[in-house]
Amino acid sequence: MAGDRAESCSFCGKPAAQAGKLIAGPAGVGICDACVSTCGRLLDREKSRDTKPSAGGPAMQEAPAKHPLAPIKLIPPTQLRLELDAHVIGQAHAKKVLSVAVFNHYKRLNDRLTKATAAQAGDLADVELDKSNVLLIGPTGTGKTLLARSLARMLDVPFAIADATTLTEAGYVGDDVETVILRLLQSADMDVERAQRGIVFIDEIDKIGRKSDSASITRDVSGEGVQQALLKLLEGTVCNVPPAGGRKHPEQQCIRVDTADILFICGGAFAGLDRIIARRGGAKSLGFVPPQNDKPSLSAEQIVAGLQPEDLFSFGMIPEFVGRLPVISVLEPLDREALIRILTEPRNAATKQYRKLFALSGMTLEFSHESLEAAADKALALGTGARGLRSVLEGVLLDTMYALPEAAPGSKFTVTAEAIRGEQPVTVSAASPKKKAS
Ligand code: ADP
Repeated sequence: MAGDRAESCSFCGKPAAQAGKLIAGPAGVGICDACVSTCGRLLDREKSRDTKPSAGGPAMQEAPAKHPLAPIKLIPPTQLRLELDAHVIGQAHAKKVLSVAVFNHYKRLNDRLTKATAAQAGDLADVELDKSNVLLIGPTGTGKTLLARSLARMLDVPFAIADATTLTEAGYVGDDVETVILRLLQSADMDVERAQRGIVFIDEIDKIGRKSDSASITRDVSGEGVQQALLKLLEGTVCNVPPAGGRKHPEQQCIRVDTADILFICGGAFAGLDRIIARRGGAKSLGFVPPQNDKPSLSAEQIVAGLQPEDLFSFGMIPEFVGRLPVISVLEPLDREALIRILTEPRNAATKQYRKLFALSGMTLEFSHESLEAAADKALALGTGARGLRSVLEGVLLDTMYALPEAAPGSKFTVTAEAIRGEQPVTVSAASPKKKAS
Protein backbone atom coordinates (compact mmCIF):
# COMPACT_ATOMS: atom_id res chain seq x y z
CA MET A 1 0.00 0.00 0.00
CA ALA A 2 1.44 3.38 -0.92
CA GLY A 3 2.32 5.49 2.11
CA ASP A 4 2.45 2.36 4.27
CA ARG A 5 6.05 1.49 3.47
CA ALA A 6 8.12 0.50 6.48
CA GLU A 7 10.61 3.25 7.32
CA SER A 8 12.45 1.22 9.89
CA CYS A 9 12.73 -2.37 11.13
CA SER A 10 9.77 -3.03 13.43
CA PHE A 11 11.97 -5.39 15.50
CA CYS A 12 15.25 -3.57 16.13
CA GLY A 13 14.24 -0.09 15.00
CA LYS A 14 17.09 0.26 12.47
CA PRO A 15 16.13 2.88 9.82
CA ALA A 16 15.59 1.53 6.26
CA ALA A 17 18.62 3.48 5.02
CA GLN A 18 20.92 1.64 7.43
CA ALA A 19 19.44 -1.84 6.96
CA GLY A 20 20.94 -4.00 4.22
CA LYS A 21 17.46 -5.15 3.22
CA LEU A 22 14.14 -4.23 4.77
CA ILE A 23 11.41 -6.74 4.03
CA ALA A 24 8.05 -4.99 4.06
CA GLY A 25 4.93 -6.46 5.59
CA PRO A 26 1.42 -4.95 5.69
CA ALA A 27 0.59 -1.59 7.23
CA GLY A 28 4.07 -0.15 7.53
CA VAL A 29 5.55 -3.16 9.27
CA GLY A 30 9.02 -4.29 8.21
CA ILE A 31 11.87 -6.54 9.23
CA CYS A 32 15.54 -6.07 8.40
CA ASP A 33 17.91 -8.77 7.14
CA ALA A 34 19.81 -8.94 10.46
CA CYS A 35 16.60 -9.63 12.42
CA VAL A 36 15.58 -12.28 9.89
CA SER A 37 18.90 -14.07 10.47
CA THR A 38 18.54 -13.83 14.25
CA CYS A 39 15.02 -15.25 14.08
CA GLY A 40 16.24 -18.04 11.80
CA ARG A 41 18.94 -19.02 14.27
CA LEU A 42 16.50 -18.94 17.18
CA LEU A 43 14.03 -21.14 15.33
CA ASP A 44 16.73 -23.62 14.36
CA ARG A 45 17.85 -23.87 17.95
CA GLU A 46 14.26 -24.15 19.13
CA LYS A 47 13.66 -27.07 16.79
CA SER A 48 16.61 -29.01 18.10
CA ARG A 49 15.66 -28.56 21.72
CA ASP A 50 12.87 -29.46 24.11
CA THR A 51 11.28 -26.19 25.19
CA LYS A 52 8.71 -26.03 27.90
CA PRO A 53 6.23 -23.14 27.74
CA SER A 54 6.52 -21.12 30.92
CA ALA A 55 3.53 -20.24 33.04
CA GLY A 56 3.31 -16.53 33.78
CA GLY A 57 6.26 -14.19 34.18
CA PRO A 58 8.22 -12.87 31.26
CA ALA A 59 7.99 -14.90 28.05
CA MET A 60 11.04 -17.10 27.54
CA GLN A 61 12.84 -17.48 24.29
CA GLU A 62 14.76 -20.53 25.36
CA ALA A 63 14.90 -23.11 28.10
CA PRO A 64 18.15 -23.28 30.02
CA ALA A 65 20.51 -25.46 28.06
CA LYS A 66 21.06 -29.02 29.16
CA HIS A 67 24.75 -28.94 28.24
CA PRO A 68 24.53 -30.27 24.71
CA LEU A 69 28.09 -29.08 24.08
CA ALA A 70 31.10 -31.39 24.24
CA PRO A 71 33.29 -31.31 27.36
CA ILE A 72 35.92 -28.58 27.48
CA LYS A 73 39.42 -29.69 26.61
CA LEU A 74 41.25 -29.42 29.94
CA ILE A 75 44.59 -27.65 29.86
CA PRO A 76 46.87 -28.56 32.80
CA PRO A 77 47.77 -25.67 35.15
CA THR A 78 51.46 -25.85 34.21
CA GLN A 79 50.60 -25.32 30.56
CA LEU A 80 48.11 -22.53 31.32
CA ARG A 81 50.83 -20.84 33.34
CA LEU A 82 53.31 -21.10 30.45
CA GLU A 83 50.80 -19.56 28.06
CA LEU A 84 50.06 -16.75 30.52
CA ASP A 85 53.79 -16.04 30.68
CA ALA A 86 53.69 -15.16 26.99
CA HIS A 87 51.22 -12.34 27.63
CA VAL A 88 51.61 -11.22 31.23
CA ILE A 89 54.82 -10.09 32.93
CA GLY A 90 55.39 -11.04 36.57
CA GLN A 91 52.38 -11.78 38.80
CA ALA A 92 53.65 -15.31 39.49
CA HIS A 93 51.25 -15.97 42.35
CA ALA A 94 48.16 -14.80 40.46
CA LYS A 95 49.13 -16.90 37.45
CA LYS A 96 49.49 -20.04 39.55
CA VAL A 97 46.28 -19.44 41.49
CA LEU A 98 44.30 -18.68 38.33
CA SER A 99 45.71 -21.66 36.41
CA VAL A 100 44.61 -24.01 39.17
CA ALA A 101 41.23 -22.31 39.61
CA VAL A 102 40.47 -22.45 35.91
CA PHE A 103 41.62 -26.06 35.63
CA ASN A 104 39.41 -27.05 38.56
CA HIS A 105 36.48 -25.02 37.29
CA TYR A 106 36.39 -26.74 33.92
CA LYS A 107 37.07 -30.13 35.50
CA ARG A 108 33.94 -29.48 37.58
CA LEU A 109 32.01 -28.42 34.48
CA ASN A 110 33.00 -31.58 32.63
CA ASP A 111 32.06 -33.68 35.66
CA ARG A 112 28.61 -32.10 35.80
CA LEU A 113 28.32 -32.54 32.07
CA THR A 114 29.24 -36.15 31.58
CA LYS A 115 29.29 -37.81 34.96
CA ALA A 116 31.92 -39.92 33.18
CA THR A 117 34.32 -39.36 35.99
CA ALA A 118 32.08 -41.17 38.45
CA ALA A 119 34.14 -44.31 38.10
CA GLN A 120 37.36 -42.36 38.72
CA ALA A 121 35.87 -40.60 41.72
CA GLY A 122 34.85 -43.93 43.31
CA ASP A 123 33.13 -43.37 46.65
CA LEU A 124 33.43 -39.60 46.06
CA ALA A 125 31.12 -39.77 43.03
CA ASP A 126 28.27 -38.11 44.96
CA VAL A 127 30.39 -35.23 46.16
CA GLU A 128 29.38 -31.97 44.47
CA LEU A 129 32.17 -29.63 43.58
CA ASP A 130 31.78 -25.97 44.52
CA LYS A 131 32.55 -23.21 42.07
CA SER A 132 35.95 -21.64 42.33
CA ASN A 133 35.18 -17.98 41.56
CA VAL A 134 38.24 -15.81 41.93
CA LEU A 135 39.02 -12.47 43.59
CA LEU A 136 42.06 -10.63 42.22
CA ILE A 137 43.29 -7.82 44.44
CA GLY A 138 45.81 -5.34 43.12
CA PRO A 139 46.40 -1.79 41.97
CA THR A 140 45.00 -0.61 38.65
CA GLY A 141 46.87 -1.53 35.48
CA THR A 142 48.72 -4.50 36.92
CA GLY A 143 47.20 -7.16 34.68
CA LYS A 144 43.99 -8.36 36.38
CA THR A 145 41.83 -7.98 33.28
CA LEU A 146 44.64 -9.14 31.02
CA LEU A 147 45.01 -12.38 32.98
CA ALA A 148 41.29 -13.13 32.82
CA ARG A 149 41.05 -12.29 29.12
CA SER A 150 44.14 -14.36 28.25
CA LEU A 151 42.69 -17.39 30.03
CA ALA A 152 39.38 -17.11 28.17
CA ARG A 153 41.24 -16.91 24.88
CA MET A 154 43.35 -19.99 25.67
CA LEU A 155 40.28 -22.00 26.57
CA ASP A 156 38.30 -20.60 23.65
CA VAL A 157 35.36 -19.63 25.85
CA PRO A 158 33.33 -16.40 25.65
CA PHE A 159 34.57 -13.53 27.80
CA ALA A 160 32.92 -10.38 29.12
CA ILE A 161 34.08 -7.48 31.24
CA ALA A 162 31.77 -5.51 33.50
CA ASP A 163 32.33 -2.52 35.73
CA ALA A 164 30.71 -3.07 39.11
CA THR A 165 30.24 0.66 39.64
CA THR A 166 27.76 0.92 36.75
CA LEU A 167 25.50 -1.76 38.26
CA THR A 168 22.58 -1.06 40.54
CA GLU A 169 20.00 -3.13 42.27
CA ALA A 170 17.03 -3.92 40.00
CA GLY A 171 14.58 -1.06 39.73
CA TYR A 172 17.08 1.77 40.18
CA VAL A 173 18.88 3.99 37.69
CA GLY A 174 21.82 2.09 36.25
CA ASP A 175 22.34 -1.38 34.79
CA ASP A 176 20.74 -4.46 36.29
CA VAL A 177 23.26 -7.18 37.09
CA GLU A 178 21.80 -9.22 34.22
CA THR A 179 23.54 -6.89 31.78
CA VAL A 180 26.75 -8.63 32.83
CA ILE A 181 25.35 -11.88 31.46
CA LEU A 182 23.99 -10.12 28.37
CA ARG A 183 27.54 -9.03 27.54
CA LEU A 184 28.71 -12.62 27.84
CA LEU A 185 25.86 -13.75 25.61
CA GLN A 186 26.83 -11.15 23.04
CA SER A 187 30.42 -12.31 23.12
CA ALA A 188 29.08 -15.85 22.47
CA ASP A 189 27.03 -14.59 19.48
CA MET A 190 23.88 -15.12 21.54
CA ASP A 191 24.66 -18.84 21.84
CA VAL A 192 23.30 -19.65 25.31
CA GLU A 193 25.20 -22.93 25.78
CA ARG A 194 28.52 -21.35 24.94
CA ALA A 195 27.80 -18.36 27.18
CA GLN A 196 27.02 -20.71 30.05
CA ARG A 197 30.62 -21.88 30.13
CA GLY A 198 32.20 -18.47 29.68
CA ILE A 199 34.28 -16.25 31.94
CA VAL A 200 33.08 -12.91 33.33
CA PHE A 201 35.48 -10.35 34.75
CA ILE A 202 33.87 -7.84 37.11
CA ASP A 203 36.14 -4.89 37.76
CA GLU A 204 36.08 -2.32 40.59
CA ILE A 205 34.42 -4.78 42.93
CA ASP A 206 35.83 -2.91 45.92
CA LYS A 207 33.74 0.12 44.93
CA ILE A 208 30.43 -1.56 45.70
CA GLY A 209 31.02 -1.83 49.39
CA ARG A 210 28.18 -1.27 51.80
CA LYS A 211 28.30 2.42 52.64
CA SER A 212 28.28 2.05 56.40
CA ASP A 213 28.29 -0.78 58.89
CA SER A 214 25.26 0.49 60.78
CA ALA A 215 21.90 -0.74 59.55
CA SER A 216 20.44 2.21 57.73
CA ILE A 217 16.86 3.13 57.03
CA THR A 218 17.79 4.54 53.63
CA ARG A 219 18.42 1.84 51.05
CA ASP A 220 21.94 1.36 49.80
CA VAL A 221 21.11 0.73 46.14
CA SER A 222 24.57 0.93 44.71
CA GLY A 223 26.46 -1.05 47.32
CA GLU A 224 24.97 -3.85 49.30
CA GLY A 225 22.02 -4.23 46.94
CA VAL A 226 24.35 -4.90 44.03
CA GLN A 227 26.37 -7.36 46.07
CA GLN A 228 23.16 -9.18 46.96
CA ALA A 229 22.14 -9.31 43.30
CA LEU A 230 25.59 -10.44 42.15
CA LEU A 231 25.65 -13.12 44.85
CA LYS A 232 23.08 -15.17 43.03
CA LEU A 233 24.87 -14.91 39.72
CA LEU A 234 28.17 -15.94 41.29
CA GLU A 235 26.64 -18.89 43.03
CA GLY A 236 24.62 -20.12 40.08
CA THR A 237 21.09 -19.19 39.14
CA VAL A 238 18.89 -19.18 36.07
CA CYS A 239 18.54 -15.53 35.19
CA ASN A 240 16.31 -13.87 32.64
CA VAL A 241 18.30 -11.64 30.36
CA PRO A 242 16.52 -8.99 28.27
CA PRO A 243 18.15 -9.48 24.84
CA ALA A 244 18.15 -5.79 24.00
CA GLY A 245 19.59 -4.78 27.38
CA GLY A 246 18.04 -2.13 29.59
CA ARG A 247 15.33 -2.76 32.09
CA LYS A 248 13.22 -5.88 32.18
CA HIS A 249 9.50 -5.41 31.77
CA PRO A 250 6.83 -8.07 32.07
CA GLU A 251 5.91 -8.47 28.41
CA GLN A 252 9.49 -8.57 27.26
CA GLN A 253 10.95 -11.73 25.82
CA CYS A 254 13.88 -12.83 27.95
CA ILE A 255 16.65 -15.33 27.37
CA ARG A 256 17.22 -17.74 30.23
CA VAL A 257 20.83 -18.29 31.14
CA ASP A 258 22.08 -20.63 33.85
CA THR A 259 25.12 -19.12 35.55
CA ALA A 260 26.09 -22.30 37.45
CA ASP A 261 29.07 -22.99 35.17
CA ILE A 262 30.12 -19.42 34.42
CA LEU A 263 33.44 -18.55 36.02
CA PHE A 264 33.43 -15.15 37.69
CA ILE A 265 36.69 -13.37 38.27
CA CYS A 266 36.33 -10.19 40.33
CA GLY A 267 39.00 -7.53 40.49
CA GLY A 268 39.56 -4.56 42.74
CA ALA A 269 42.34 -2.33 44.03
CA PHE A 270 41.25 -2.44 47.69
CA ALA A 271 43.50 0.54 48.31
CA GLY A 272 44.68 0.63 51.90
CA LEU A 273 44.20 -3.08 52.45
CA ASP A 274 47.80 -3.27 53.60
CA ARG A 275 47.16 -0.80 56.37
CA ILE A 276 44.09 -2.71 57.48
CA ILE A 277 46.03 -5.98 57.66
CA ALA A 278 48.90 -4.21 59.35
CA ARG A 279 46.62 -2.62 61.94
CA ARG A 280 45.05 -5.95 62.71
CA GLY A 281 48.29 -7.89 62.72
CA GLY A 282 50.41 -5.15 64.23
CA ALA A 283 52.84 -5.59 61.35
CA LYS A 284 54.32 -2.66 59.50
CA SER A 285 52.86 -1.54 56.19
CA LEU A 286 52.70 -4.37 53.68
CA GLY A 287 52.74 -2.49 50.43
CA PHE A 288 50.05 -1.14 48.17
CA VAL A 289 51.64 2.23 48.55
CA PRO A 290 51.80 4.37 45.43
CA PRO A 291 54.71 2.91 43.46
CA GLN A 292 56.77 6.08 43.50
CA ASN A 293 56.87 6.16 47.30
CA ASP A 294 58.55 2.97 48.21
CA LYS A 295 58.85 -0.68 47.34
CA PRO A 296 56.30 -2.88 49.04
CA SER A 297 57.86 -4.54 52.02
CA LEU A 298 55.94 -7.80 51.57
CA SER A 299 55.30 -9.87 48.47
CA ALA A 300 51.84 -10.62 47.10
CA GLU A 301 52.09 -14.12 48.62
CA GLN A 302 52.74 -12.63 52.04
CA ILE A 303 49.74 -10.35 51.74
CA VAL A 304 47.58 -13.29 50.71
CA ALA A 305 48.88 -15.23 53.69
CA GLY A 306 47.99 -12.38 56.04
CA LEU A 307 44.56 -11.68 54.55
CA GLN A 308 41.45 -12.50 56.56
CA PRO A 309 37.87 -12.21 55.32
CA GLU A 310 37.29 -9.46 57.92
CA ASP A 311 39.81 -7.29 56.10
CA LEU A 312 37.49 -7.32 53.08
CA PHE A 313 34.44 -6.70 55.27
CA SER A 314 36.01 -3.40 56.25
CA PHE A 315 35.65 -2.33 52.60
CA GLY A 316 31.94 -2.91 52.93
CA MET A 317 31.99 -6.34 51.29
CA ILE A 318 29.27 -8.46 52.81
CA PRO A 319 30.34 -11.84 54.22
CA GLU A 320 28.11 -13.83 51.83
CA PHE A 321 29.72 -12.11 48.86
CA VAL A 322 33.25 -12.74 50.08
CA GLY A 323 32.21 -16.34 50.67
CA ARG A 324 31.38 -16.76 46.97
CA LEU A 325 34.94 -15.82 46.02
CA PRO A 326 36.90 -18.64 47.63
CA VAL A 327 40.02 -18.24 45.51
CA ILE A 328 41.99 -15.07 46.22
CA SER A 329 45.21 -13.72 44.81
CA VAL A 330 47.06 -10.45 45.16
CA LEU A 331 48.90 -8.81 42.27
CA GLU A 332 52.15 -6.95 42.79
CA PRO A 333 52.42 -3.26 41.89
CA LEU A 334 54.57 -3.06 38.75
CA ASP A 335 58.01 -1.57 39.26
CA ARG A 336 60.20 0.16 36.67
CA GLU A 337 61.85 -3.10 35.63
CA ALA A 338 58.51 -4.81 35.07
CA LEU A 339 57.20 -1.88 33.02
CA ILE A 340 60.26 -2.01 30.75
CA ARG A 341 59.70 -5.73 30.23
CA ILE A 342 56.01 -5.10 29.49
CA LEU A 343 57.04 -2.68 26.76
CA THR A 344 59.09 -5.28 24.93
CA GLU A 345 58.50 -8.88 26.00
CA PRO A 346 54.83 -9.95 25.74
CA ARG A 347 53.72 -11.40 22.42
CA ASN A 348 51.72 -8.25 21.68
CA ALA A 349 53.98 -5.80 23.51
CA ALA A 350 53.28 -2.14 22.70
CA THR A 351 56.68 -1.52 21.06
CA LYS A 352 56.19 -4.60 18.84
CA GLN A 353 52.81 -3.30 17.78
CA TYR A 354 54.16 0.13 16.84
CA ARG A 355 57.10 -1.45 15.01
CA LYS A 356 54.65 -3.54 13.05
CA LEU A 357 52.53 -0.48 12.20
CA PHE A 358 55.64 1.22 10.85
CA ALA A 359 56.77 -1.91 9.00
CA LEU A 360 53.37 -2.10 7.30
CA SER A 361 54.19 1.32 5.82
CA GLY A 362 57.63 0.10 4.77
CA MET A 363 59.40 2.04 7.56
CA THR A 364 61.58 1.01 10.47
CA LEU A 365 60.93 2.02 14.07
CA GLU A 366 63.42 1.56 16.89
CA PHE A 367 63.34 2.31 20.59
CA SER A 368 66.57 3.00 22.46
CA HIS A 369 66.87 1.27 25.83
CA GLU A 370 66.93 4.68 27.51
CA SER A 371 63.63 5.53 25.82
CA LEU A 372 62.05 2.45 27.42
CA GLU A 373 63.33 3.55 30.82
CA ALA A 374 61.99 7.05 30.27
CA ALA A 375 58.59 5.68 29.20
CA ALA A 376 58.47 3.47 32.31
CA ASP A 377 59.30 6.48 34.50
CA LYS A 378 56.55 8.51 32.88
CA ALA A 379 54.04 5.68 33.36
CA LEU A 380 55.10 5.30 36.99
CA ALA A 381 54.44 8.99 37.54
CA LEU A 382 50.96 8.60 36.07
CA GLY A 383 50.22 5.95 38.71
CA THR A 384 48.04 3.87 36.40
CA GLY A 385 50.35 0.88 36.19
CA ALA A 386 51.09 -0.49 32.74
CA ARG A 387 47.96 1.16 31.39
CA GLY A 388 49.88 4.42 31.13
CA LEU A 389 52.60 2.94 28.90
CA ARG A 390 50.54 2.82 25.79
CA SER A 391 49.29 6.37 26.10
CA VAL A 392 52.84 7.59 26.69
CA LEU A 393 54.02 5.97 23.43
CA GLU A 394 50.90 7.05 21.54
CA GLY A 395 51.52 10.67 22.53
CA VAL A 396 55.18 10.54 21.55
CA LEU A 397 54.55 8.87 18.18
CA LEU A 398 51.46 10.84 17.19
CA ASP A 399 53.17 13.44 14.99
CA THR A 400 55.38 10.83 13.38
CA MET A 401 52.46 8.57 12.56
CA TYR A 402 50.50 11.54 11.26
CA ALA A 403 53.17 12.29 8.68
CA LEU A 404 54.24 8.68 8.10
CA PRO A 405 52.70 8.23 4.63
CA GLU A 406 54.65 11.26 3.39
CA ALA A 407 58.02 10.08 4.76
CA ALA A 408 60.70 8.88 2.35
CA PRO A 409 60.21 5.16 1.69
CA GLY A 410 62.31 2.98 4.00
CA SER A 411 62.98 5.77 6.55
CA LYS A 412 64.18 4.75 9.96
CA PHE A 413 62.69 6.37 13.06
CA THR A 414 64.32 6.19 16.46
CA VAL A 415 62.57 6.96 19.72
CA THR A 416 65.02 8.37 22.25
CA ALA A 417 64.65 9.18 25.93
CA GLU A 418 64.56 12.89 24.98
CA ALA A 419 61.67 12.21 22.62
CA ILE A 420 59.76 10.45 25.39
CA ARG A 421 60.34 13.41 27.69
CA GLY A 422 59.18 15.79 24.96
CA GLU A 423 62.57 17.49 24.70
CA GLN A 424 63.10 16.70 21.04
CA PRO A 425 61.17 14.98 18.24
CA VAL A 426 61.53 11.35 17.21
CA THR A 427 64.68 11.20 15.09
CA VAL A 428 64.46 10.12 11.49
CA SER A 429 67.17 8.98 9.13
CA ALA A 430 67.05 8.05 5.47
CA ALA A 431 66.87 4.43 4.44
CA SER A 432 70.11 2.50 4.56
CA PRO A 433 69.38 -0.37 2.16
CA LYS A 434 71.73 -3.04 3.51
CA LYS A 435 71.23 -2.31 7.20
CA LYS A 436 69.17 -4.78 9.21
CA ALA A 437 66.39 -3.43 11.42
CA SER A 438 66.83 -4.31 15.08
P1 ADP B 1 43.87 -4.04 35.61
O1 ADP B 1 44.75 -4.67 36.63
O2 ADP B 1 43.47 -2.66 35.99
O3 ADP B 1 42.73 -4.91 35.19
P2 ADP B 1 44.73 -4.43 32.89
O4 ADP B 1 44.89 -5.91 32.90
O5 ADP B 1 43.49 -3.92 32.23
O6 ADP B 1 44.82 -3.83 34.35
O7 ADP B 1 46.00 -3.76 32.24
C1 ADP B 1 45.93 -2.67 31.32
C2 ADP B 1 46.94 -2.89 30.22
O8 ADP B 1 48.25 -2.81 30.76
C3 ADP B 1 46.84 -4.27 29.60
O9 ADP B 1 46.04 -4.28 28.47
C4 ADP B 1 48.28 -4.58 29.24
O10 ADP B 1 48.58 -4.03 27.99
C5 ADP B 1 49.08 -3.86 30.27
N1 ADP B 1 49.48 -4.70 31.40
C6 ADP B 1 49.08 -4.56 32.69
N2 ADP B 1 49.69 -5.43 33.49
C7 ADP B 1 50.49 -6.17 32.71
C8 ADP B 1 51.38 -7.26 32.98
N3 ADP B 1 51.57 -7.74 34.20
N4 ADP B 1 52.04 -7.80 31.90
C9 ADP B 1 51.86 -7.30 30.66
N5 ADP B 1 51.05 -6.27 30.37
C10 ADP B 1 50.37 -5.70 31.37
